[in-house]
Amino acid sequence: MSLPAWLFTDLDSTLLDHRTFSWRAAEDALHEIERRKIPLVFCTSKTRAEVEFLRRKIGNAHPFITENGGGIYIPHGYFPQRIEGAVTVKTYHCLALARPYDEILDALDEIAAEAGVEAVGFHQMSAKEIAENSGLDAEQVQLARQRDYDEPFFLAGATPKKEAAFVRLARDRKLEVVRGSRFWHIHAGSDKGRAVRELTKHYRAAWRRKLRAVAFGDSANDLPMLAAADAAILLPKHDGTFDEAVTAKLPRVTRGSAPGPAGWNQAVLELLGG
Ligand SMILES: [Mg+2]
Repeated sequence: MSLPAWLFTDLDSTLLDHRTFSWRAAEDALHEIERRKIPLVFCTSKTRAEVEFLRRKIGNAHPFITENGGGIYIPHGYFPQRIEGAVTVKTYHCLALARPYDEILDALDEIAAEAGVEAVGFHQMSAKEIAENSGLDAEQVQLARQRDYDEPFFLAGATPKKEAAFVRLARDRKLEVVRGSRFWHIHAGSDKGRAVRELTKHYRAAWRRKLRAVAFGDSANDLPMLAAADAAILLPKHDGTFDEAVTAKLPRVTRGSAPGPAGWNQAVLELLGG
């Protein structure tokens, strides 16, 4: 592989450890990326508030993609060109690609009722319940609840057959239902792949060259991103297996050698020839 011009990465169970949310094992690669001035774009199911918190901690000043492709946030002045269709949110140009959150919540209730399953979304859980189910601390839960496009949920006691019926009903209504590292997610009108394609257009316009990007992920919700990038690396899950939804669609995807930030670190350093 030739050197990538920029990188897209999932966060949960990819750059961040699935349990501790630490990126420490990836610090060598993060330094190398920084030294070479390679843009690292976070592309996650997390909210803007959660990503902002991490960008400050990690020291990342690049654009980012939130809530499974719902929103693209580009810092003001990052690209020389005008960002058509963007609105200003804080100090960013925001491109809202997905349908709004309220619409998604209504649809989630209706589809669950039709499929005869109980869907329990973030909006129905107390802060304590979210913390228990996600492993996030109280501050992180507060950031995770500030949602604009996508609802994380679980299906309480549903059989695989009912889960399949739920997914089918959602897709009939043009809603995306995907499994992330911890929760199911529902959103509409966008996915990580659409957001990656959109942001890639802006990089290419700014740099006036057709450059290649590499994407890193671990779960089914990363599939559109992995497929949209010029090259992709799939990390194993923490039990060592690879997500079958991804390998079925991308059988020749490059596979990482270890899960989470340690695997990410190794894959990035190999990619950069370090
Ligand atoms: Mg993940």
